[in-house]
Amino acid sequence: MVLINATPKSPIQLRLTRDLVRVIKRGHPWVYADALRHTPLAPSGSQAILLDNKKGRPIALGFYDAHSPLAFRVCTTDPAERLDDTWAERQLTRALELRRTVFDAQTTAYRLINGEGDGLPGLICDVYADTAVIQLDGDGPAGFWNAAGIASWVADTLSLKSVYRKPQSRRREKGQALFGPTPNRPVTFLENGIRFQASLLDGQKTGFFLDQRDNRRQISSVAAGRRVLNLFGYTGGFSVYAGIGGATQVTTVDLAAPALDMAHQNWLLNALPPDNHQIVAADAFEYLAQATRRKKQWDLVIVDPPSFAPTKESVKKAVAAYKKLFTAAVTVTTSNGLLGVASCSSHIDLPTFLSICEESISQARRQATILTINHQPADHPTPLPFSEFRYLKFVLMRVE
Ligand code: SAH
Repeated sequence: MVLINATPKSPIQLRLTRDLVRVIKRGHPWVYADALRHTPLAPSGSQAILLDNKKGRPIALGFYDAHSPLAFRVCTTDPAERLDDTWAERQLTRALELRRTVFDAQTTAYRLINGEGDGLPGLICDVYADTAVIQLDGDGPAGFWNAAGIASWVADTLSLKSVYRKPQSRRREKGQALFGPTPNRPVTFLENGIRFQASLLDGQKTGFFLDQRDNRRQISSVAAGRRVLNLFGYTGGFSVYAGIGGATQVTTVDLAAPALDMAHQNWLLNALPPDNHQIVAADAFEYLAQATRRKKQWDLVIVDPPSFAPTKESVKKAVAAYKKLFTAAVTVTTSNGLLGVASCSSHIDLPTFLSICEESISQARRQATILTINHQPADHPTPLPFSEFRYLKFVLMRVE
């Protein structure tokens, strides 16, 4: 099976201008173009050897993208290794073993390959029962990995019906079935024994926010007897878990009406009482303003907005938006109620996020205690020195 594309020539040599050896040997997998002495022209995804800045000794093997600021991605820090299909299959097998350790038959949707976190740079593969979705993070990974070969390997190894390649959201490319038929219809799967459907083709990300799995479980464990407001609820992940956990009433708010329809279908798929779930297609900020005016409150409020800070430059604006949102969310949380807030922006680190929480609570003239601070789950592993990859924060608080 061809898993990586053949590079026509011998690997390109790239020399560092700075002493990044230690951080790379510790497992940081990225080198930017401005840390390289030369950036020769070559097809994106060409194999490359990274040489240190002092004596020009090889320190890592990986692939190169002359057209991206992210010029080199590390595949291995053992220069004696060969980047071939045997190597790639070993990495894939290791990724699969981790998921087999972490999940049982009660969870059939998971991230099988998390790029750099699995030593498979730029390659993402999410499995939803008998279907998988592959995404490649830019031209470097697209040139290096043989997407069709990876799809066959995944399909064969997990006995899947189809594997679909989805373009990244910011690109205008078309998706493509790499193995089996195009998954046109929603796919049904299990998460912690709970049933969900996701539309893989037109849903967000690869169809479902797999990264919130542990946080949804947390919400389920505290939902009993509570009235729940789930803001930015998408297809109802948190809502259904809250329902399963014994919430008396759940309201799911999102701008996207089709996602909300699926949220209610997901509610019904789990035989929850239809009348206990309400969907509201609205802007969350406006919904909160109106609820505040009407003095409405909930015993458990979940706020999981899209990334407000997609770039470093947008952090300041994002901090202001989170504060506005969380202040309004605290206001509609009952005394002794619970508030769960999330941020999926890697540019907002945990200390910053906690200070946003603190200021929002104070702005609303309330106090809070932290019950748990969570991150992304085990099927989203990240190299230890690579904090850029740890994007998800979820803080559950009791509001006094
Ligand atoms: N909590 C969800 C994932 C949320 S993703 C889960 O666990 O599955 C962010 C969601 O916010 C998207 O569904 C998007 O449609 C919605 N959204 C974006 N801006 C919004 C706004 N201003 N008001 C309400 N929803 C919004």
